[in-house]
Amino acid sequence: MLKTQSAGEPAAATSVAQYDAVVVGAGFAGMYTLHRLRQAGLSVRVIEAAPQVGGTWFWNCYPGARVDVESLSYSYSFSPELQQEWSWKQAYAPQAELLEYADHVAQRFDLHRDIQFETRVVSTTYSAELDRWTVRTDRGDRITTTYLIMAVGCLSATNVPDFPGLGSFAGSWHHTSRWPREGVDVTGKRVGVVGTGSTGIQAIPVLAEDAGHLYVFQRTPNYSLPSKNSPMDPERERDWKANYDEHRAFARMSPTGSNIGLLRDISALSVSDAERSRIYEEAWRIGGSQLLRSFNDIAVDPEANETAAEFVRAKIRQIVRDPDTAELLTPRDYPIGTKRICLDTGYYETYNRDNVTLVDVRSDPIEEITPQGLRTSAEHYPLDVLVFATGFDAMTGPLLEMEVTGRDGLALRDKWAAGPRTYLGVMTAGFPNMFMVTGPGSPSVLSNMTTSIEQHVDFIADAIEHLRASGAARIEPTVEAEDSWVEHVNEVADRTLYKRANSWYLGANIPGKPRIFMPYAGGVGTYRQVCETVVAKGYDGFALQ
Ligand code: FAD
Ligand code: NAP
Repeated sequence: MLKTQSAGEPAAATSVAQYDAVVVGAGFAGMYTLHRLRQAGLSVRVIEAAPQVGGTWFWNCYPGARVDVESLSYSYSFSPELQQEWSWKQAYAPQAELLEYADHVAQRFDLHRDIQFETRVVSTTYSAELDRWTVRTDRGDRITTTYLIMAVGCLSATNVPDFPGLGSFAGSWHHTSRWPREGVDVTGKRVGVVGTGSTGIQAIPVLAEDAGHLYVFQRTPNYSLPSKNSPMDPERERDWKANYDEHRAFARMSPTGSNIGLLRDISALSVSDAERSRIYEEAWRIGGSQLLRSFNDIAVDPEANETAAEFVRAKIRQIVRDPDTAELLTPRDYPIGTKRICLDTGYYETYNRDNVTLVDVRSDPIEEITPQGLRTSAEHYPLDVLVFATGFDAMTGPLLEMEVTGRDGLALRDKWAAGPRTYLGVMTAGFPNMFMVTGPGSPSVLSNMTTSIEQHVDFIADAIEHLRASGAARIEPTVEAEDSWVEHVNEVADRTLYKRANSWYLGANIPGKPRIFMPYAGGVGTYRQVCETVVAKGYDGFALQ
């Protein structure tokens, strides 16, 4: 049966259907894409693996999960009414509140009827003959579409390291991004956490409160700043609601898409030691990531960066009572800010608890998981619960988990074998009418992602509207434009300190993954201007036919 669906018609499950647009993913990106494309009069089907909207904020329901950008800023800006009616309860919303928000948005804009949940896209194939994509799902659906929008997220493909013996573990083990919705009772239990990235740093203080004993298996220490989360200040909320336009305009043109701009346009090295300490101390007291924006050269000058890094190291020594533990927690071999900065609530303080032990798995690596626990090269740790806060196959992982085949049978996996190649992070040559929201080569994970998501979705929706208005059937970047963008992304990264850390930005966390700096480090505002210029020049760098 071939079924053509028109805009507004309910999304009944069919085995073959045709749409103007298929969107993969119903996180913040997929939800807004649906809204925009529906407004443009397209028939749209969203396919989502989860049973509900929210993406990241559905999957990551581990204890302590919370946003690292103020919620007033980490939220949709496209609807003034939505901004006015929604009230955040906390300055940095916890996962449950963000999920509630996502659900509210879906209800308010009537999104559910065009989303097919609990369905995973397994392949997408372009036919030049039909000028359409065929999308296949794990439920056996076959859907054809003119436009394919990958809103699969940058951090949705989980990474569980291949530890020998994991299958034999007699206790329960969980990746933080697949945390059981009913929770995990760790009361009085021996709990092991592997990983001290943003996730581990959020989960560890909360797990420590209930665990009988918590073992933290740390390979690389991270820099973490206090979020100083608090209940929403009514005065602050009133100010934002009265001035949302200005706040959003600021974020859109700022380097990070957020509302913390550069605090001083001077070098960290241009002030006295005492003055610099006073400035960092004040940023630490206020909380959030603004310590990194205290001066204009922390991200680019190693010596300036070292002043901020050393300030945080001193804080660790001040907070953590045991000097050996403090030393182990101290990052020394990469600059601060070259991995996404962690924000915490009581992370370093947690190591002062009697029921918490930090285990160095850099010097004594994890050798195996046994039925009773975890063995390092030095010791066996009996455990009841094992938590993997081991991150994601970031940016390319969710796209390459599917079989994506473009023109002339070109597989995305093959095209990207040596690393992702895109134009503006939004399209890749050889894959006509296939768009990526916050793809590799866009600011994405270096930003407040709600700002980046809206900008990308607007770019994509505008491009589709332009195609339809001009009668063009397809859009695709030229190879030349793509090559020069890839080169530019690299050049910009080389001007920063990012490549000095073994981070997931570079794919360094996944064995065998090409080591390429994936996001665009030129800043959200600059990137927006580039996109606007591309459009003003008639989609410069794209071929429209
Ligand atoms: P996601 O929210 O990841 O949604 C993608 C959706 O696509 C998922 O629901 C997934 O199930 C679905 N999907 C993927 N592949 C398929 C497939 N083949 N078939 C069907 N469905 C599929 N960013 C910030 O700016 N600030 C933060 O504080 C912040 N905190 C974060 C905390 C955590 C724990 C994590 C993991 C990420 C965080 N991020 C943060 C990044 C976050 O991912 C983005 O802010 C944003 O939520 C991404 O939205 P998205 O819709 O692009 O992707
Ligand atoms: P991550 O930053 O990649 O951290 C993974 C941790 O697991 C690292 O400490 C890593 O050690 C460790 N690890 C991985 N494999 C290991 C192995 N085989 N043996 C021992 N240790 C291993 O992942 P994440 O913490 O989930 O964060 C990912 C991103 O999601 C963040 O950078 C951020 O963008 C986002 N996030 C944001 C928040 C927030 O604050 N709102 C919360 C969670 C996540 P190495 O460093 O040595 O590789």
